[in-house]
Amino acid sequence: MSPAEILHQIFGYQKFRGEQEQIIQHILAGGDALVLMPTGGGKSLCYQIPAMLRSGVAVVVSPLIALMHDQVIALQQYGIKAAYLNSTLNYDQVRIISNQLRQKELDLLYVSPEKLLTPRFLDFLDQTEIALFAIDEVHCVSQWGHDFRPEYTQLTVLHQRFPTIPRIAVTATADEPTKRDIITHLGLDNAKIFTASFDRPNICYRIVQKQNAKTQLLEFLQAEKHHNDAGIVYCLSRKRVDETAKWLTQQGWQALPYHAGMDNKLREQHQMRFLREEGVIIVATVAFGMGIDKPNVRFVAHIDLPKSLEAYYQETGRAGRDGLPANAWMAYGLQDVVMLKHMVDSSEADEQHKRIEQHKLKAILGYCEITTCRRQVLLNYFGENLVNICGNCDTCIEPVATWDGTEASQKALSCIYRTEQRFGVQYLIDVLLGKTNDRIKKFRHNKVSTFGIGKELSSNQWHSVFRQLVARGFIAVDVEGYGGLRLTESSRPILRGETPIFLRKDISKRSKVYGRTSQWRSFSGNDKILWDTLANKRLGLANSQNVPPYVIFHDSTLEDIVLQQPQTLAEFANLSGVGAKKLEHYGQIFIDLLNEHTTKYGNQVIEKPINSTIDRVAVVSESAEVTIGLFNQGSSIEDIIIERNLKSTTIYGHLVLGIEAGQLELQQVITNLKEPEINEIEDQFLSQESMDALKPVFDYFDGIYNYDILRCVRASILYRIK
Ligand code: ADP
Ligand code: ZN
Repeated sequence: MSPAEILHQIFGYQKFRGEQEQIIQHILAGGDALVLMPTGGGKSLCYQIPAMLRSGVAVVVSPLIALMHDQVIALQQYGIKAAYLNSTLNYDQVRIISNQLRQKELDLLYVSPEKLLTPRFLDFLDQTEIALFAIDEVHCVSQWGHDFRPEYTQLTVLHQRFPTIPRIAVTATADEPTKRDIITHLGLDNAKIFTASFDRPNICYRIVQKQNAKTQLLEFLQAEKHHNDAGIVYCLSRKRVDETAKWLTQQGWQALPYHAGMDNKLREQHQMRFLREEGVIIVATVAFGMGIDKPNVRFVAHIDLPKSLEAYYQETGRAGRDGLPANAWMAYGLQDVVMLKHMVDSSEADEQHKRIEQHKLKAILGYCEITTCRRQVLLNYFGENLVNICGNCDTCIEPVATWDGTEASQKALSCIYRTEQRFGVQYLIDVLLGKTNDRIKKFRHNKVSTFGIGKELSSNQWHSVFRQLVARGFIAVDVEGYGGLRLTESSRPILRGETPIFLRKDISKRSKVYGRTSQWRSFSGNDKILWDTLANKRLGLANSQNVPPYVIFHDSTLEDIVLQQPQTLAEFANLSGVGAKKLEHYGQIFIDLLNEHTTKYGNQVIEKPINSTIDRVAVVSESAEVTIGLFNQGSSIEDIIIERNLKSTTIYGHLVLGIEAGQLELQQVITNLKEPEINEIEDQFLSQESMDALKPVFDYFDGIYNYDILRCVRASILYRIK
C-alpha cells in the first residue's frame, strides 16, 4: 500500500494535511525529521504510517505513561498492531509483548524513556528489527519549559547505538531555545525540520476583565451553551482548583479537580473520567494536560493568568483538536498582574533567568491588553505573520475602544506618590473616590490633595486604569508581596503631562454572540433526537470495550451521519474518519440505528440499491412518487414538508430520486443556483474518484452549498451519464 492508501483505507481520511505526506516520504527514505506542529495538527500519522510501511517495529518514546493505553487502543480500533511497555505492566504482560516482538507481530511499540534506557531493553532492541524511532513530546528534553524530563537528555543513545534507523522527533512547542535544545541534545543536526503554521483557526480567543472570576466563568459557560461539553478550567493554585471545582459542582456542572497535591489514585480517576465520559469539566493546575488527546474538548477557560504566552498557547491549544469550533476564554485582572510580577521579581533565580521571566510576563501582559486582533499577536510571538485580522477573537468580533486616559493616569500616579508609595490598589482607589474609612483616617490620607479627586470613574474603571499602568510598567509592585504599588522611572513623563496615554475601554457586558458553533449544536427536532441516539450508541460501544468514546468515532463523524444519512456501507465508508476496520465493526450498527430512527420518526427510508455510481439505478419509491407528484402540481417544498409531515431531508431525498430518474429538472428543484455555480459543483464531483462522497465537495465550497443542493446536483449528473 502507498501512504495515501493507508490514509484512506485504514484511517478513513481523504487527504493529507499540510506536510504530512512529505514528512512520511522523508522517513520512508530513511531520513531523520524534527516536526513542529500545533496540537491537533496530525503529528501521529507522520510516524504511524511509516511504521506500517517500513519493515520491523516502530519504537515510540513517550513520557505519557497514563495515556499509553488509550493511544494503543485507538490504534487497535483501526486494526493496527500496537502495544506498549512501561512500569505499569506486570511480568506476564511484558512476556506476551516480548513474544509478539520476537514473532514480528507488532507495527508499533510505545515505551516510556525509563524503560527504553534500561540496558536490558537496549540489548533486546539489538536483536530486533526496528522500523524507526519516534520521539513524542520531544520538548521534554529542554529545561526551558515546565515539562523537562531528565531521561530525555539520554536519548542520544538511540543515535549512537542505532545510527542507521531513522528518527522522527515531534512536538507542539516551537520556540527557538527549545528547538535548539532538541537539536543539540538529540544529535539531530542532520534532521530535516518541518514547521507547520501554529494557527488554530477554530479556536475563538477571548479575555474579559476579571471582577468575580467564578461568576464570570459560570456566565461564560451558560452563554456559550457548554452544558454537556468537555472542558478544562485552569487555575494558578491548588486551593483555587478545589474551590472552583466544588463551586461548579454546586451550580450543577460535572466538575472534577486535578492537581499535584491530590492522592494519585483519585487524580488518575478524574483524568480517566474526563477521557471516558462526555461532558466532564476538569478544573486543574498546569499539572494537567500534556498529551491529553481528547479531540472534543470544547473550551479551555483560564480564571488566572498563565505565566507566559507559551503556556497560554499550549493550554488553550487543548481545545478543539477535532477542528470543530472551540472556545479559549480568560478572566484577567489587576490581581493577576500584581501576583505574577511579584513572583518574578522575588524569584531566587539568577539575573539572566529573571530577565527572561520578566520578558515573558511582559509578552503575555501585552497580549491581554492589546486592542487589535489577538491571533496576530499570538502568532507573531511564534514568529508567524498573520496578514489579515482573524475575525474569530474578541477584539475582532467586538472592536475595543480606547480613551484618553492621560488625566486619569496622572491622578492614579500622583495618588500613589502622595500616599508614600506603599499602599495597595484598593486603598488607593478608596482615596481617589474620597471614601473615609478608619485606615484612611489613621494615615490622614483624607487630607492629601488626591483625596476624592477621582469620582468621575467607578471603582471598576479605576481597577482597569491601575491594571493597565502596571501592565505597561509605569507602576511597580513591591517585592515584599503585600501588593503595595510604587512609581517607576518611566512614569515621570506621564506625571508631568508630557506624554498622552491611551487606555483600553474594558467591556464589562458583552453584547455580541461569540464563537461559531459546531453544526450538531444547532440540530433540533428529529436531528437532535438522532444525534443523541447516535452519541448514546457510541458511548455504549465505548464503555463495553473500556475505551473513550472518541476512539470509536469523532463528533465530526457522527455529525456527518446525521447530515448525510448514509444508507449503504459504501456511503458510510465515505464519511470522514471511517476506515476499513471501523466500517466493518460499526458501519452496519450505525446504519441500522439510522434506519430505526427514520422509521420511528416518520422519515421513510428511500430504497436505494445503490452502491457504486456505475450501475446505479434510481428506484422511485411510492412515497417519492407522491412527493414528486405534488411538486409537479406546483406545491412548494415547504408546503410538501407540512402537508406530508415529513422531514425536509426526506422530501429532498424524494426530489433527488426524481431528478436522477429524469422526472424533474435540477433547476426546478434548486431555483436559486446559477448556471456557473452548477458547473462548478459538477466539476468538483466529476474530479473525484467516486461520486459517492459528498463531504469533500461540501468542504471544498466551505459549506456554502448544503447537502440537499449537492445531492440534487449529483443526481442530475447521474441522470445524464446513465
Ligand atoms: P497531534 O498529535 O498533532 O496533536 P493528532 O495526530 O492527534 O494530532 O491528530 C489530531 C486529529 O486529527 C486526530 O483525530 C487525527 O486522527 C486527525 N487527523 C490527522 N491527520 C488527518 C488528516 N490528514 N485528515 C483528517 N484528519 C486527520
Ligand atoms: Zn482576531
